[in-house]
Order: sequence, then structure tokens, then C-alpha cells
Amino acid sequence: MTGTLPAPVVLGDALRVAASPDFQRWAEQIRRTGGCARPIHLTGSSTIRDAVTGEILHSYTTTAEPGGRLRVACGNRRASRCPACAWTYAGDTFHLIRAGLTGDDRRAVPASVATHPKVFATLTAPSFGPVHNRPDTGRCRCGRTHDADAPELGTPLNPESYDYAAAVLFNNHAGDLWRRFTIYLRRELARRLAVPVSRLRETLRLSYGKVAEYQRRGAVHFHAIIRLDGPNGPGDPPPAGATLDALGDAITAAARRVEITVPATGPHPA
Ligand SMILES: [Zn+2]
Ligand SMILES: [Zn+2]
Repeated sequence: MTGTLPAPVVLGDALRVAASPDFQRWAEQIRRTGGCARPIHLTGSSTIRDAVTGEILHSYTTTAEPGGRLRVACGNRRASRCPACAWTYAGDTFHLIRAGLTGDDRRAVPASVATHPKVFATLTAPSFGPVHNRPDTGRCRCGRTHDADAPELGTPLNPESYDYAAAVLFNNHAGDLWRRFTIYLRRELARRLAVPVSRLRETLRLSYGKVAEYQRRGAVHFHAIIRLDGPNGPGDPPPAGATLDALGDAITAAARRVEITVPATGPHPA
């Protein structure tokens, strides 16, 4: 068996921490951060007093903590920043989304939610110009067959004509595009149910979970699960007209309508 010993300075540091009298508390802090790779170090104190008598009910200071600091998990969602927190987030999200699809007693989502109309939709940016890809036919438009990890994948076939400005603007406004999509979706649903949009909430509740991802070409796209509930939420069946077809049509119609016009700047037209 072969192994590499840590550098003497690292080993020395580990031994110093392990031998220190507050090691138990230190280990407890690390455990409570879930092994966060970049914990946030807090210093300071807090005091809770009775508003009337001024009596101190609780006080805490980081002075007595190991190194005088309290460690808190960074909570970052990106595995490249913190594998431990990203893993926790991914797990939490998985359970939240699963509960929304099949129901979950622990989250007060009844199993009947599984019968509600729901659509898994992917909202993708328009084309900004052809890019190198791996189509099902195997051969890219450039005439070659690219490996799965080829660095040119997602890059423009013709950088001269690729609409970089539109690609950047799309990403920059992705959040607002999604927001407008949800507004239009409510309008489309209200129209299909023949109720004024201002009264839609009395008949129906729209629930969704979405994640934003980067496509290979660098454009943000959204994956969303969109579900229809009755006005009181997941435990309430949606009204008769709120069918899977109506939801699917409304999603398509709303996505087509979403548009943002940005003012002209410099050489770039509006
Ligand atoms: Zn973390
Ligand atoms: Zn290509």
C-alpha cells in the first residue's frame, strides 16, 4: 500500500487542533456545517433582553468558541464552490420536487396531488446563430463528428455572424423573461377557464418549481415543473376546465408571447 503523508505544516496544524481543549466544540461546529468547504466565520455577540424588565434572557458571544469564531455553512449551490453544500441543496431540491409530484406526508402534500395536471417544460432561448453540436445524425453542420467533450461544442460556426449581443442580453434578462412568462401563463389559463385574470386565484392555483441551467452554447434555459391545483393548494383538486391539454396549450402560448425590448445603446439597435 502506498500513501502520501500530508505536508509537515498541515500535519502539525491538524495535530494542534486535535490536541486543543476545545476540539470537541470545534468538531461539533464542523459537523453542524455539514462539512462545508468554505464556512463563513462569524465573530460577535448577541443578547436577548426582556422588553419590559430589561432582564437578560439569553446571551451568546463567539469569544469562547474555538479560535473566537463561529462557523456557518456557506450554503452555495455550486459544487465547484462547495461540494458539501451543493450536495445538501441538490438533495433538498430533489425531495421538494418529488413531494410536488407524488405527495409527501412530512411536507403536508397529499398523495392526491399526483392526479393534478402537470407539465415538465423546458424553455430555451431562440437561435443566435448555428453552433457546433452533436446531433442525433452524428455529423455537425461543419461536417465533422465532435467528441462529447470537444471544446468547440457550443461555439459559433461563424463567429462573424453570430449574434453575441442578443445572446448576452437574453441571459441578462432571463429572470425577467421567466417572470413575464408566469404572468402570461396566468392570463392564458384564465382565458381558457373563461374567468377574469383578477379572479383566477379564486378558482385555481399555479404551482411550479424551476431550475436555470446553462446550455453548452452559454445560453440560460429553464426546466420547470408546472402544476395546477385548486384555490387552496395541493390538497385541493383543480377546476374541471383545468386539464392537462389546457395547461400544455397555455404554456406554449405564453412562451411564444414573452418578449423584452431593450433600448438601443451605442452601435447596437434596440
Ligand atoms: Zn458550503
Ligand atoms: Zn461542428
